[in-house]
Amino acid sequence: MGATARSKLYGAIFFIDLDNFKALNDTRGHDVGDLLLIEVAQRLRAVVREGDTVSRQGGDEFVVMMEYLGAEVDEAAATAKRLGETLLEAINRPINLNGYEYHCKISIGVGLFDQRDTVEELFKRADLALYQAKNAGRNTLRFFDPSMQAAMDLRSALEAELRQALNLKQLQLYYQPQVDAERHVIGAEALLRWQHPRRGLVQPDDFIPLAEDTGLILPIGLWVLETACTLVKSWEDDACTRQLQVAVNVSARQFRQTDFVAQVQRIIEASGANPARLKLELTESLVLEDVDDTIAKMQAIKRLGVNFSMDDFGTGYSSLSYLARLPINQLKIDRSFVRNLLRNSSEEIITRTIITMGRGLAMDVIAEGVETEAQYEFLEAHGCQAFQGYLFSRPLPLEELEEFVRRG
Ligand code: C2E
Ligand code: MG
Ligand code: MG
Repeated sequence: MGATARSKLYGAIFFIDLDNFKALNDTRGHDVGDLLLIEVAQRLRAVVREGDTVSRQGGDEFVVMMEYLGAEVDEAAATAKRLGETLLEAINRPINLNGYEYHCKISIGVGLFDQRDTVEELFKRADLALYQAKNAGRNTLRFFDPSMQAAMDLRSALEAELRQALNLKQLQLYYQPQVDAERHVIGAEALLRWQHPRRGLVQPDDFIPLAEDTGLILPIGLWVLETACTLVKSWEDDACTRQLQVAVNVSARQFRQTDFVAQVQRIIEASGANPARLKLELTESLVLEDVDDTIAKMQAIKRLGVNFSMDDFGTGYSSLSYLARLPINQLKIDRSFVRNLLRNSSEEIITRTIITMGRGLAMDVIAEGVETEAQYEFLEAHGCQAFQGYLFSRPLPLEELEEFVRRG
């Protein structure tokens, strides 16, 4: 920092982390891991200029500091980027570890600095950039930028608040009606909302990814299932609502829990809900993650009497061969296809194909995101049996849904 103040030139700090170092240690032993650390250190030293600094902070973390990169921030950033890429290339060349050829990959986070910075701030920024580099798929270099910081700050604040949201009863379920070809309500999809004291009504796309990353989706998902089953039970006594199905979205992390089947069973029994009125929505990507585990769990849940719908169908990499092996009752055509119907598009062909395939496999087909009469007519004419979308209704709070059902 002192040197920067005198020179008035920017410097850069590079946080470097070896990708998969632990795996190497675990499989080849620590001696081989040590050899790699030594080789990486030597290569880093060979690349930097005289006067630059290379250090190992511990474990597989190295820090390189380069000074005198330029007086203008753009110029300094460009130089730092070039030097960072040189570091990457140097490490990526195959490394001989006791006769074993190893391809080492590293992630680099870069922070520029001048005399106005503090060391703590600088380290925090380079660390954030490194975190982004890792998230971007590794063996890459990322610069710190202020929007990144703002996003991280918002995320930590949201995370702290989301931890409290369940206890404070800020989470709510909205319900979007699903209708048949005569536009009679046949059920509803439960959709999460977060009634935040300051931010207002937060949509699921803004907090479910966070809930997934932090594991908060587990208690939240449990609560959604319990609430849906309680609703199914409470609808039993009313002729208007008795036949309705409630669809619940299940996230991958929730489904992968070893005791997920037992959880579903326990909730159904505790609530006394008729399992035939419950429908679990799974996505293609969830199913594909681990097909064998998926099939086993789906079959067990199916035996409880619960139904399955394949959400966002067509957007993933569905393999038709496993589709027939899964106990799926319903395919849900993703709204990205529905949106582009009637523009003589490939989406028309895909939609028709999904409907035909679903019927051939004895699954029923529902379309989501139906917004116009024309879309509805197209789908209906091609054999789609169920519909969901703004054309019929937006997602509604429970009382409004019940009102909607009563009005017929
Ligand atoms: P999804 O399961 O595909 O849900 C359908 C989404 O489409 C909902 O958005 C719904 O409001 C929206 N939508 C319905 N009709 C229309 C339409 O006509 N036009 C357009 N443009 N959109 C329509 P929402 O409520 O924001 O939910 C987004 C996603 O969040 C859901 O996608 C689902 O993946 C996830 N999600 C919601 N609730 C839960 C939950 O309880 N658990 C889990 N794991 N995920 C949930
Ligand atoms: Mg859904
Ligand atoms: Mg969907």
